[in-house]
Amino acid sequence: MNDAALIELEGISRRYKGQGGASTVALRDVSLRLHAGEFVCITGPSGSGKSTLMHVLGCLDSPDSGVYRLAGREVSDLGGDGLAWLRRHFFGFVFQSYNLLTSATAAENVELPAVYAGLARKPRRARALDLLAAFGLEARASHRPAALSGGEQQRVSIARALMNGGRVVLADEPTGALDRRNGDEVLRMLEVLARRGHTVVLITHNPEVAARAGRRIELLGGRVVADSGPGAEYRNRLPEADAPAIERVSMGAGARAVEWLRSGVVSLRANLLRTRRVRAVLSVFCIMLGVWSVATLLMIAEGAYRQTVQQVYRLGADQFDVHPAAREGAAANPLAMEDAAAIAAQVSNVRHVAPEFSQRMTVRRGAADMQANVESILPKASGPPNGSEFRVLRKGAIISERDNEHREQVALIGWGIERELFPPDVDAVDRHMLIGNVPFRVKGVLSGPNATAKERNWRTGRDSDVVLIPFRTGAALLHGTDKPQLLSVFVEDPQEMGQTVAEVRELLIRRHGGADFRFDFDPDRARRAGETRRQLWLGFGSLGGIALLVGGMGVMAIMLMSVKERTREIGIRMAAGARRRDITQQFVIEAAVLATVGGILGVAACIATGPLLRLFDFPAAFAPEIALAALAFSMATGLIFGVVPARRASGLDPVAALRTAE
Ligand code: ADP
Repeated sequence: MNDAALIELEGISRRYKGQGGASTVALRDVSLRLHAGEFVCITGPSGSGKSTLMHVLGCLDSPDSGVYRLAGREVSDLGGDGLAWLRRHFFGFVFQSYNLLTSATAAENVELPAVYAGLARKPRRARALDLLAAFGLEARASHRPAALSGGEQQRVSIARALMNGGRVVLADEPTGALDRRNGDEVLRMLEVLARRGHTVVLITHNPEVAARAGRRIELLGGRVVADSGPGAEYRNRLPEADAPAIERVSMGAGARAVEWLRSGVVSLRANLLRTRRVRAVLSVFCIMLGVWSVATLLMIAEGAYRQTVQQVYRLGADQFDVHPAAREGAAANPLAMEDAAAIAAQVSNVRHVAPEFSQRMTVRRGAADMQANVESILPKASGPPNGSEFRVLRKGAIISERDNEHREQVALIGWGIERELFPPDVDAVDRHMLIGNVPFRVKGVLSGPNATAKERNWRTGRDSDVVLIPFRTGAALLHGTDKPQLLSVFVEDPQEMGQTVAEVRELLIRRHGGADFRFDFDPDRARRAGETRRQLWLGFGSLGGIALLVGGMGVMAIMLMSVKERTREIGIRMAAGARRRDITQQFVIEAAVLATVGGILGVAACIATGPLLRLFDFPAAFAPEIALAALAFSMATGLIFGVVPARRASGLDPVAALRTAE
């Protein structure tokens, strides 16, 4: 057995600066050598420096001068992380007031030091349950401290002190708050620990207890005034306490991230379920309002964008037209249906090619007649009916591919034509009319003044005198030609339109032997549409961003208040070995979880608002990007505004934090 001391203090002093420059000396020039396995009792009147000595020993507090060696290594000038490491791996604290986390279960409290040591969840839980069982608390593992008696709470706190091995157990009046029977029980346990090889340092007022300890040290006015010296008994004790192999089963980065998130959620749940419910709900509400306003404003921006694009560009942003055009010295070579088929088959970005032939003609029914725009079109296999995205069917049915195949004499008519040719009380659908002199059956009517708000758009208004018929019917019976006047080409990706036009040109030149056609195409259209959208998003988004900022500040104020309230919790975590970084992370994650919950609720509220806005004719269009942007915003807000309270929390002095009343 070697005689080297485990703990060596040399000339340790600790002063507290009081108000007005006066300072209290809590420890004066204390020198001590404690051996592994000693059972040391510290006595002395109140204010003599016992607790301060305990905090210095346990690396919760640093001395102003002197040297502290632990297992031969100097700790006096270790940084915060180094001291936290020692608290985690070497020391276990047992306090008079137990200092358990009120929102955590007994098992979670016991696990705490191992969480900060990075022990994986399963072995951690298993060891915590073992320890609880060893103290007769297996049935209490999932109870919170409020549901435990004082004696039980103190046993939980001893189990916690042993979680990472507890080579040195520091107990500051552990029996002070207990009745005699429970107090004796706790002391007996500490004695057992000492016998098993733990070093136990016990502060007590009780002379009976002191008499049982192997060594008695008495403090007065911050000085050691009596020391019975190391007894011989520690030499016979087991050499090593049962420290678990912590580093070998530690968590990976992923598990650690999960652990952080879990602790954020656990802590939030505790806050939500318990005293701080109103506050947590309030902060979620702040963020929710912020996100809701961002998302709703973006939705209006998107709606405005879609409307603008439709108004500014005669064609949709995903469409261009090909017209026949005369070349110099030669007549125009008409476009053919085969051209349409070739474009659709051979150009990759093309979604649909719609040939069109339109002609001003007279339509007639009985004595009534009028001029109409007769358009022969090819129905799309999929997508919006009849060439135009903006024509909405009010009643009847659309023209089908079959109608086109069989050259059916069917027509869709604009609402203006129905009004002119049919009496008000007659439904035009399935009745007949003449186009030129050819009879057609009305198959459907395109939207009119009675259409819903959603259907009423700029394009249907202009189309009130339109007649749509199948392309092949028109070619055979009305126009005297099967050559389309133009081909409308719809593309998949508007951004690639320039390239698509070039490919179509190349293809047609090959087919026609020259450029006898022209494009109705604005190469900048897609780009400008994108720009319009960006500008609208930016404008509306920044308005919403201000709202979110206000929400974020609300969260910060609430979190700051909670730091104040949770000072003791932070102290407990630090005593269990949490680094400042761990505390920062915890608070930031809590803020981020709050923000995410608020964000999701905000997006949901926004989605619910959409139909309401459209009911009042507001342009509002939801897009998945809106949800993504709003959520990203809210998480960023949570992180940014979570940092200030987090830093405040992690900057707390652990000893002072532990002293605050709960
Ligand atoms: P004990 O545990 O023996 O009662 P303490 O170690 O708590 O004694 O305190 C020793 C002295 O240091 C006391 O005079 C006390 O008032 C003073 N003291 C302790 N902590 C602080 C502090 N944070 N600020 C100022 N003085 C303190």
